[in-house]
Formats: sequence, C-alpha cells, structure tokens
Amino acid sequence: MKYLSLLPLLLAIPAPAAAEEIGECRFSRETLTFAGSRVEQATCLLRKIEPLAVRKPQPLPPVIRTLMEGEGAPTAAQKAAAIAAFPEPYRAYAAQWAEAPISRTEEGLPALYFVIHDTSTPFYANEPFPKRLNRDWKVNDFTPYMDGTFAKAPVAHIFLNRVGQIWAGHDFQEAWRATKLESRVVGPRARGRMVHIETVQPRRFMPGATTRARTYAPKPGFTKDQYRMLAALYVYASARAGNWLIPAQHNTVDAGIPDAHDDPQNFELKQFAKELEKLLNPPRKGR
Ligand SMILES: [Zn+2]
Repeated sequence: MKYLSLLPLLLAIPAPAAAEEIGECRFSRETLTFAGSRVEQATCLLRKIEPLAVRKPQPLPPVIRTLMEGEGAPTAAQKAAAIAAFPEPYRAYAAQWAEAPISRTEEGLPALYFVIHDTSTPFYANEPFPKRLNRDWKVNDFTPYMDGTFAKAPVAHIFLNRVGQIWAGHDFQEAWRATKLESRVVGPRARGRMVHIETVQPRRFMPGATTRARTYAPKPGFTKDQYRMLAALYVYASARAGNWLIPAQHNTVDAGIPDAHDDPQNFELKQFAKELEKLLNPPRKGR
C-alpha cells in the first residue's frame, strides 16, 4: 500500500535540470543549442519583433535558408570581401585578427549564434528624435559605449553606428555575454556560444510611458549602411567560426525570460538578406 501511494509522487518528479529547455526557442542547458534544425532555429530566432516585444513569424529569406540548410562556411573570397567592406580603422583591426579562431565556451563549444541588438540609446525620453538623425553627432558617438557611461565593460563585441562605423568592444575571440539567457539563466557555461552586435538606434517613450519597457525607435530603424555592415560582420564572424553562424536577435534569444529586452526594433530581415546576397554574389565586372 505504502509503495503504491508513492507512485503519483514519483510521476510528478520533473525531468532533470540538464534536460530543461529555456525560452520560446527552447535553449538546451546541456548542448547550449536552441531546439531543432538550423533552419528551425533561425526561423524561431528571426521572428519579427514588433513594439512591446510582440513576436510574429516571418519566412526566412532564401539566402539565409540556403546557408542554414548547407554544411558550408564562407569561402576565402567571401571573407576577404567582408573585410574589404569594412571602413577603417575597423578594417585593419579585422584583418589583424582574421585568422584567430572565434570564441568558445569553457567546454570547448564554438560560437554558433550571431545576435543582433539595438542599443536603445541615446534615450530621448519625451524629447523628439533629432531631425537629421542619421548624421547626428550624439547619436553616432561611440564615446559613451567606451568610457563606462552605459556599463563598466563594453556590453557587446561590436558597436555599429548609423553611418556604418564600427567599434569593437571585444574581438570575436573573446567569450562574452549580452543576453539574460547567458548571464542570468545559464551562467558562465554559456559564455562564448554567442557573438553580439549592438546596432545604434535611439529610443523615446511611447505616449504616456514612464518605464524603459515602453519605448519606441524611429522608422526606419536601421540605415542601409547598418544593414550593409551587419551583413559584412556576419560573413566575417562566420568565416572565423568556420561555419555559417545562426543569425538571432536579443529579444528572441531571451523570449520567455522575465523582463526580456525588446531589441532590435524595426529590424528588416529582408534588407539584411539583400545586403548579404550582394556580398556573397557580387555582380561580375566587365561583362
Ligand atoms: Zn540587446
């Protein structure tokens, strides 16, 4: 009798912690990978993020789908084209570290995710966005990301402003973290599995809002230069990984975790794909 009465209790014991999956895209603590094939992971991680972090499905652009389906990596020519696309001084920096392997976790798993963020700064509260936003000095200034105004250490590997200039807070070989999934949920074991790109985009309060959870970005959210550089950074980081990284966004990585950030806002996947296509398949000259 006693034995039988224990049975419901035994059935109610949850699965071991190692098998626990985190968030909407089901990140495994064990394998440090989101659930499903590469195509399925990218589809979940590249869902459209609308204001207030409403996530909506959208199709993967063909170029991204093809990269996710294949087993390949960027060619030497594609890597060189990515480096050539960068403006100085980042071009020289990227060339200097071009052969250094990308970050790994403490267990030796290489970086697998290319996570796109928006900085959500400068923050204008109830003030209007600057009129000539993309040329605005304050918006494009890297200093507050460098000097400890926003955080003690640079929060991401890369900072990309609206005119396409790039500052590396950390080279891609440094195991870094910039999501709640990595820093609060999984912890140090997750470090090195993701590389992080902060794309400069200001914010202001939604009408009547008083918290940073209710803010909106200008439209269009990102400039053509930012999409062009995001594509080049993606090819360059993937080349160093020896593998096409799985593109992701901060909000979809953390979706399902309380107080997840809502960035990037207004990220147009099609524009990123268009720039990627241009970089991977340049038109032949002289024909
Ligand atoms: Zn972010």
